[in-house]
Amino acid sequence: MDYRTRQSRLLQSGEGSKCDVFLTSHLPNVRYLCGFTGSSAALALAPSGAVLFTDGRYTEQARAEVVGARVAIVRKSALLAAAEWVRKRFGRKRLVVGIEGDHLTVAARALLMRTLASRARLRHTAGAVERLRQVKDHEELTRMRAAAKLGASLFDVALRKTRPGVTEVAVAAEMEYAARRAGAEAMSFPTIVAAGPRTALPHAHPTAGKVPRNGFVLFDFGVILAGYCSDMTRTVCVGRPTAEARRFYEAVLEAQLAAIAAVRPGVAVGEVDRAARSVLRGAGLARYFTHSTGHGVGLEIHEAPRVAAGQQERLQPGMVITVEPGVYLANRGGVRIEDMVVVTGSGCEVLTSTSKELIVL
Ligand code: ZN
Ligand code: ZN
Repeated sequence: MDYRTRQSRLLQSGEGSKCDVFLTSHLPNVRYLCGFTGSSAALALAPSGAVLFTDGRYTEQARAEVVGARVAIVRKSALLAAAEWVRKRFGRKRLVVGIEGDHLTVAARALLMRTLASRARLRHTAGAVERLRQVKDHEELTRMRAAAKLGASLFDVALRKTRPGVTEVAVAAEMEYAARRAGAEAMSFPTIVAAGPRTALPHAHPTAGKVPRNGFVLFDFGVILAGYCSDMTRTVCVGRPTAEARRFYEAVLEAQLAAIAAVRPGVAVGEVDRAARSVLRGAGLARYFTHSTGHGVGLEIHEAPRVAAGQQERLQPGMVITVEPGVYLANRGGVRIEDMVVVTGSGCEVLTSTSKELIVL
């Protein structure tokens, strides 16, 4: 990973160029900018150099991982140490210090104000690092492909374990066990397995509820591999699908394919959302599609851009987003189909290789 290039891109970006020094303690951003993967850190970044502050638990790890920043091991809060370093380093000069208001607590902001006293102005830089993170480089894409592939292999486990009478938690447990055995660092979020009418809950948590003889089962899951998240959803039918079930499934699949077909450089993400929504409107199901069409994915499971109605962010080659329309009808059931796609020079490539034909178990 080219951390130094990322750092200079940040400092030259619209937000970064307005700051004398930039402070972040948001771990995915710290990792993105200097490679550190520990659980507590702050990074101070200035054109003259960068310093990563962390504590004694991470002495060896920080020295092994951090690129493009000096490592300082401190006995106090990493953010406080970073602020004190800024105060000392820049002396009496009046400063603009870039902070991430989206990730700081009110208490942390007060601490920064106290430490930097009257010399500094804190400037809230909204999403400056997140904007850079949207576009993945070659190495990131290699990792994301591998994560998507490992993630997809868990669907085979889900199919083998899903049968009437088995509980949702049991299926989720088998999937997560298989993930760790295959080398996943963790799940990218708690695995969703929802059976029967519970598929109508878009973010159902697995329960002791059993897979019915007849109905949908929805699986939404992902793994973290080399720091990068995967995310996919498939919905299958246990027993013979009713005509209504088939109609829901076909409509969601058509919406998902239409949204994927809309993904190409220069298109506003809101257009991708619109492509999915208009298919479901045509099928009379738009009001049952109750969430946005997708989200960026990378070091975090949900990151920029939001693929939602009216969003103006333009797609660029290297962005990785999910495309996941769904319909949810209370007491009847729901269907969601989700793939990860990467924007290419002329369109997109689907990273989730699993078939989307309706599977009947
Ligand atoms: Zn998902
Ligand atoms: Zn998702």
